[in-house]
Amino acid sequence: MKFDLNKIVRKSLKGIRPYSTARDDFKGTASVYLDANENPFDTSYNRYPDPQQQPLKAAIANIKGVTPEKIILGNGSDEVIDLLFRAFCEPATDNVIIPQPTYGMYSVYANVNDVSTKSPSLTETFDLDVDLIIKDIDANTKLVFLCSPNNPSGNLLTEEKVKLILKSFNGLVVVDEAYIDFAKTDGFLPFLDQYPNLVVVQTLSKAWGLAGLRLGIGFASEEIIQVLSQIKPPYNISSVAQKIALEALGNSEAKEKWVTTLMTQREILTTKLLAFSFIKKVYRSDANFLLVKVDDAAHCYSYLTKRGIIVRDRSSSRHCDNCLRISVGTPDENKILIDTLTEYEKSTVYRS
Ligand SMILES: *Cc1c(COP(=O)(O)O)cnc(C)c1O
Repeated sequence: MKFDLNKIVRKSLKGIRPYSTARDDFKGTASVYLDANENPFDTSYNRYPDPQQQPLKAAIANIKGVTPEKIILGNGSDEVIDLLFRAFCEPATDNVIIPQPTYGMYSVYANVNDVSTKSPSLTETFDLDVDLIIKDIDANTKLVFLCSPNNPSGNLLTEEKVKLILKSFNGLVVVDEAYIDFAKTDGFLPFLDQYPNLVVVQTLSKAWGLAGLRLGIGFASEEIIQVLSQIKPPYNISSVAQKIALEALGNSEAKEKWVTTLMTQREILTTKLLAFSFIKKVYRSDANFLLVKVDDAAHCYSYLTKRGIIVRDRSSSRHCDNCLRISVGTPDENKILIDTLTEYEKSTVYRS
C-alpha cells in the first residue's frame, strides 16, 4: 500500500504557519535582548526556553542513532500522543485502532479529541491478532497504537506482526516503546527509514528515572516531525527540563545500572511470586513490571494497601481477570512485598 502523508494531515492544518517566536526571527547571538517582553533581571530562568530544544535533541540523536530532524520532544509522551491526534485525526469523523488491553492514555486522548476508537483484542498471550486489526481498518482510520513492551502485560509484540501492519496500513502506526530499555531488543528505531508511516514514542519517565520531569520523545520521518513541530506549543519543554534531561543523558552509566538491577530483580521476583499457592500465573515480562494472576485480586490488593503497599489492580482489563500489575522496586521494596505476601498466604483471612 502506498503511504501519502498529505492524505492524512488534518485539513485545517494545510498551510498553517506556526507561531513565530521572537528567537526564531533572529538567528545568532545578541548582547541585548529586548524582543520578548521578558524580565531582564537574571533569575536563571528569566528567558524563554529554546523552542527547538537543539542541544537536547542532538544528545538524544547521538544516543539513539537517528538525526535530530527525526525527533520531536513533548511534555511527556502524553503530549506527543495528543499531537498525533491533533495533526492527523478529523474530530467526529476519523477513528483510531487501539488493541486491548493496553495503556489507557491512547483512548483518553482519542476521547478528548472527539476521535472514535476501535478496540480489537490482543490474543490470550497479549500478542497482535493481525487479521482482527486489519479487518477494523477503514477509510477513516488514521492511527494504530501498538505498545511494545505492552502495558499492562509486559511482553514485546512480535516484530514480524508489527511489520505486517506497517505494510498493510496507509495511516500511521505508533509504536510506544516506553519500556524498551528493559527488553533485549533495539525495538523499531532501526526501521524508521524503511517505513514512512512509522512513529516510535519513547520517554525519559521509566528507565531514565525522570517521570517527574515530563520528557517524551517522538521519532518519525522528517515530514511527519515537521507537521508535529508546527502545531506543538512553542515552549512545551521548560528550560529546567531541557537542562536536567541533558545532564541525565550525559550519564547513561547510571541508567544502565538501574536497568540491569531492575531486570535482575524482575527475574528474582518472578521466581518468588510463583512459589505462592494463591498466585496462578506470572506473565513473562520485557518491562519493569509484572502482571500477576492471583485467585482473588481485590482481596489481595486491599490486604497490600492496608499494609502500605500499592500495586495496580488490572482485573477490569481484557484477558486480565484477577490480575495485579506490580512494578519492580528496589531490592528492599521487593523484599517487603514478598514478606507481606508470605504473611498474606499464612493469614487466616486468606481462604484457599
Ligand atoms: C509510563 C508510560 C508512558 C510514559 O508516559 P510519559 O507521559 O512519558 O510519562 C508512555 N507509554 C506507556 C505505555 C507507559 O506505560
